[in-house]
Amino acid sequence: MPLPKKKASKQRRRKRKTHWVAETPTLGKCSHCHQPKPPHAVCPNCGYYGGREIVKPKVEEEKGKGKGKGKGKSKGK
Ligand SMILES: [Zn+2]
Repeated sequence: MPLPKKKASKQRRRKRKTHWVAETPTLGKCSHCHQPKPPHAVCPNCGYYGGREIVKPKVEEEKGKGKGKGKGKSKGK
C-alpha cells in the first residue's frame, strides 16, 4: 500500500479540507402541493407521487403524551 513520505502539515491538510463541503440537497417541486421535495420520492407534505396519493400525510399530533416511563429527572436528592 502506498504511504505518504511526509506528514502533511496543518496548513496543507487544512487547505485540502477547504474543498470538503456538504452539497446542497437537490429539491424539486411537488406537482400536487408545490412544496419542495426530493426528486423521485413521495412528497413528505401531501404523500403524493405520480399524481396519486401513495401514503397518507402525517397529521401533526400533540406531543403531550410523551414517552411514558422516563428515567429522567430525579426528584430532590
Ligand atoms: Zn406534495
